[in-house]
Amino acid sequence: MTTNKTQEIDLIVLGAGAAGMMGALLAQARGQRVLVVDPHASSPSNFFISGGLFPAAGSALQARAGVRDTPEAWLADLRAFAGESVNTDIAEAVAGALPSFTAWLEATGAPVQFLADVPAPGHGVRRFHSLTPAGGQAFHRWCREQLAARAGIEFLATGVPIERQAGGFEAFWDGRRWRAPAVMLAGGGFAANADMVARHIPAMRGALHNGSSTNDGSTIELGLRWGAALGPMDGFQGQGHTNPGGVTRLGMSIPTLGGVMVNRQGRRFVNEDVGPSALAPHVLAQEGGCALEVFDASIAAALTHHSAYQEAVKAGQVLQASDVATLAAQAGVDPAGLQETLAAAERCARGQAQDPLGRARFPRVLSAPYLASWVTGALSHTQGGLRTNAQGQVLDTQGRPIPGVWASGGCAAGLSGRGADGYLPGNGLAQTFGLAWRMHQALGG
Ligand SMILES: Cc1cc2nc3c(=O)[nH]c(=O)nc-3n(C[C@H](O)[C@H](O)[C@H](O)COP(=O)(O)OP(=O)(O)OC[C@H]3O[C@@H](n4cnc5c(N)ncnc54)[C@H](O)[C@@H]3O)c2cc1C
Repeated sequence: MTTNKTQEIDLIVLGAGAAGMMGALLAQARGQRVLVVDPHASSPSNFFISGGLFPAAGSALQARAGVRDTPEAWLADLRAFAGESVNTDIAEAVAGALPSFTAWLEATGAPVQFLADVPAPGHGVRRFHSLTPAGGQAFHRWCREQLAARAGIEFLATGVPIERQAGGFEAFWDGRRWRAPAVMLAGGGFAANADMVARHIPAMRGALHNGSSTNDGSTIELGLRWGAALGPMDGFQGQGHTNPGGVTRLGMSIPTLGGVMVNRQGRRFVNEDVGPSALAPHVLAQEGGCALEVFDASIAAALTHHSAYQEAVKAGQVLQASDVATLAAQAGVDPAGLQETLAAAERCARGQAQDPLGRARFPRVLSAPYLASWVTGALSHTQGGLRTNAQGQVLDTQGRPIPGVWASGGCAAGLSGRGADGYLPGNGLAQTFGLAWRMHQALGG
């Protein structure tokens, strides 16, 4: 039943985070009329909270900076990191999409930059990009400003019922109706839904969650009501660099730059190069569920563009001392243990010893002044979700596309595979932007 007020549009987008805003902007760029709906629009999304860093292997920006990289090299890093658990169809589609997506961002006038000074565990070369300034908040703000500025996009910061009907979808609000042949599900993952976490990732039941409270699984549940199949559901990003309480974190790069992690005895307990996600359970297994991340002023100086680290400094989470004994006393760890650990790390850095924990790279010998910060393990965001094809079309339980239903971001199955170990830094936004770009191409972009 339609009224005179029914507006015929091209796309309804549920969610105004990373996936939904990018999906809407890309659709608008090819002349489509879009309705974006978000009932929690003023709460921080994962995009807002995130580091805002995405890999785009083989981008023109990287090439201009003299870095040789290709989508295939990123795929090889993904496979070396996560092995058979990589969701290959999605990974390949996304890898090929990201350089074009990045070029589009640049052509659109976004202040996109290649971050030559951001190393990441598991990535063979520097390949992270972001907007200027780097960080999720600035990226989120730019997207919201673009949504508001572009003709053809209507944004409702409220919950709006959606009905699936023959040949399309209808949204209703305040006496108005919109009808579109396609819907993009973009409400994020389910890390804030305790029941879903307990059901799908029992190992993280009750874990500290440092992501958005809006990631409640609601658009996954909507897809299920429309007959969608689920991909593997137990993949997630853990965060082993989260300051206790979960408000701030150190970011992923300190170990890659030469930092080490110790427990209350001042002893290392893990090969820190496994990456922030796989680190989380190792950190949680230490006394008090915490570890001390130890680095130095040279490493801190290389973190200027790391918004997460800068927030942690502002929040008073980083200790500084002129010698190891003072640092140990400030942090409350065993001073002799810490001295011995740093001496052993120095021998590894100088090539005089092999690390018994299997870490291959100790890029520098830490020196005074020393810095340190307590961290714990958290659940950042989930990687399981609705099964899609490589274009982002949601599939039913027979593997057939459900007409008009698309998904990207946290509510779609990610590319990381199972558990925490398969999450290579950047997989979240890579899948989010990559599938949004693929949808744009499939719809004629
Ligand atoms: C601490 C942290 C750091 C991170 N850092 C990085 C990083 O540096 N690089 C990287 O690649 N990834 C990072 N990520 C992951 C990245 O943030 C996510 O992959 C990405 O934001 C997913 O986009 P999304 O749009 O699916 O979800 P979100 O960005 O969370 O957006 C979902 C939106 O949907 C809305 N919504 C919820 N339910 C509904 C509904 N029923 N109807 C309509 N709207 C709804 C929400 O209000 C929200 O605005 C990080 C995540 C966290 C938590």
